[in-house]
Parts: sequence; C-alpha cells; structure tokens
Amino acid sequence: SREIQLASRPEGWPTEENFRLAEAAVPELQEGQILVRNLYMSVDPYMRGRMNDVKSYVPPFTLDAPLEGGAVGEVVESRSESHKPGDKILHGLGWRDYAVLDGKRARVIDTEQAPASAYLGVLGMTGLTAYVGLTKVAEFREGDVVFVSGAAGAVGSLVGQIAKALGAKKVIGSAGSAEKVQHLLDLGFDEAFNYHDGPVKDSLKKAAGADGIDVYFDNVGGEHLEAALSVMNKFGRIAMCGAISQYNDAPVGPRNLAIAIGKEITLRGFIVGSYNQYADEFASLMTGWLQENKVRYDETFVDGLENAPQAFIDLMKGANKGKMIVTLG
Ligand code: NDP
Repeated sequence: SREIQLASRPEGWPTEENFRLAEAAVPELQEGQILVRNLYMSVDPYMRGRMNDVKSYVPPFTLDAPLEGGAVGEVVESRSESHKPGDKILHGLGWRDYAVLDGKRARVIDTEQAPASAYLGVLGMTGLTAYVGLTKVAEFREGDVVFVSGAAGAVGSLVGQIAKALGAKKVIGSAGSAEKVQHLLDLGFDEAFNYHDGPVKDSLKKAAGADGIDVYFDNVGGEHLEAALSVMNKFGRIAMCGAISQYNDAPVGPRNLAIAIGKEITLRGFIVGSYNQYADEFASLMTGWLQENKVRYDETFVDGLENAPQAFIDLMKGANKGKMIVTLG
C-alpha cells in the first residue's frame, strides 16, 4: 500500500518537497478493526495549520508519518461487528491507498442517496461548516444582506446558496478570477467581484450599495475582514471561519478593528467540530435543498494519490471550484 508522508514542515508556501510517497505494509487486523480501500480523499486548507509544529485545536502532523484527513472508502475486510465487506464508509485516514482503523471511527454512508464524494463536501464537514457558521455563529436572519469571501470554494459556495434559500435580501461573494465571479452569478449570488481587481473595500462598497452588509462569513481574513468591518451595518455579525490569506503569508490587519465598538459588531470564531449537535438538522435541510435544486455543488477532482500533494498546494492557490477531492483506487 502507498501513503503520503510529511517529509518536512513547510515554511511559507508548501512545495512538493515537503511530501513523500512511501510504501507501507498493511498490518493484520485486530479485533474490532476494518481494512478499507480508499476511493476519495479530501484536501483541506486546515491541513496547512497541522503541518506547522505548533499547538492548535488539532495536534500537528508527525514528520515521516502519513498525513491524515477525511476519506471515503470501501470495507474490504472486517473484524468489526458493525461493518461488512462492501460497506462504503467515511473516516479520517486519507492520504493512503489502504487504511486500517477501529470500526468505531468509521461511519457507514448511503451511496444510493448521494455519490460517495459528496460526503466529503456538501453533505459532510464542508456543508456543516457553511450551515452552522451562517445560521448559528453569525445568527443569520431572513432579510439579512450577506457577504462571503472564498465564495467559489467548497464552504463559501454553499454559504451563499444557503443564505439565498433561507431568505437573504442580498448575497455578495468574492473570488479570485473572472470565471469564478461568473460562476457565482450562475449559482444565484446577487453580486460578485474578483478581489484581484482592486481594493476589496471599494469592490465591496459598490456591491453592497445603500444596503450595507449585516453578516460577513469570513474565509479569508486580512484585507477582506478589514473591508467587511468598514462596510458593515450597525449590529453586524461576523463568523470567523478561516483566514486563508495568512496560512502561507504573514498576517495583515485588520487595522480598523476598533470600528467594531461603535458599530456594535459581533465577531465570533468557530470550529465546526464543536457544532456536531446540528448534524442531523443540517443533513435533513441540505438533502431537501439538493432535491429542490436550491443548492448546487461543485467538485474539482484530481486523479491519483501521487498527485495529492500538488492538489493540496493547488487548493491553496485557488485551482479549485467547490470541493477539491483526490480520486484514489
Ligand atoms: P476552499 O474550497 O474555499 O479553497 C480555498 C480557496 O481559498 C481557494 O480556492 C482560493 O480561491 C481561496 N484563496 C486562497 N488564497 C486566498 C487569498 N489570499 N485571498 C482570498 N482567497 C484566497 O476551501 P474550504 O471551503 O475547504 O475552506 C474555506 C475556508 O474555511 C478556509 O479558510 C478554511 O480554513 C475554513 N474552514 C474552517 C472550518 C472551521 O471549522 N472553522 C472548517 C472548514 C473550513 P480564490 O481563487 O477565490 O482565491
């Protein structure tokens, strides 16, 4: 079996040299364990943080050991009572062809209801992040004007569409290319702009117009957060989901944070893992939205475990539309 190991910790932007493709023996199954052939694995921005040797909400990846992350696979051998060969499962040991894990750490998924890859994105952690970030963290209310950055990405594209489905007055998205901007409009965003076209603040002001913005779903941090603070309405609410602009580059701003005082703005950070109590509520709503075509989702597939490091690097550079997924097997 093959696996991708962390060969060295990236400083700044990760490169292929930080990763290593290695052969690994598949251990014999212990009582309760299953052997899984991985079909799809997720690459996610949060993995960049785990490549640093710093204490965070998830422990850092170990050097010279396989990376980890969301994956969907098929059970090929089972010593667990709750799994049988052929079951499709969601689990946390991606970045390898075969995984051996305790059956308790695997969730059986229904691939009749949705394609297996969807459980890594729209029906998985990505979708839950969008839903709880918007509705629980930012306390979205019908009639709000919503701005989301990273809007053509996995989380962002869902945030905008969920906001529309729940009755937003206006949804504004920002993304990194003209093609992505057009795609956002096709998905039903009311306004969209390319953040490379000029100062974010100017583009956002223009898009928001007299309405201002009530909710900002922040995937990017830095200049985007500063712009949102400056355009935000009184009692605005900001869900701090991610800050991808500073995962590989030095942090910048926001320099105008004190504006939150007079405008009585709430900024609330969150980690999706703390909101698992909403998983069922989310799953039933999202299933409905997908059936009614109120939410559409994109997936960008990269083929082959050996290409997973490059897929991860490309994700940070914006090569993806919607969820970035590596196809295995
Ligand atoms: P995406 O699919 O959004 O992929 C990342 C995107 O970030 C790229 O496509 C790129 O698009 C954009 N990007 C990269 N650099 C910059 C930059 N300097 N400025 C603006 N945009 C940039 O990934 P996810 O949907 O998986 O994650 C989105 C965010 O949500 C991340 O910040 C992630 O860390 C966070 N997150 C947080 C969770 C939580 O529990 N708090 C859970 C899951 C995700 P473009 O072409 O537009 O630049």
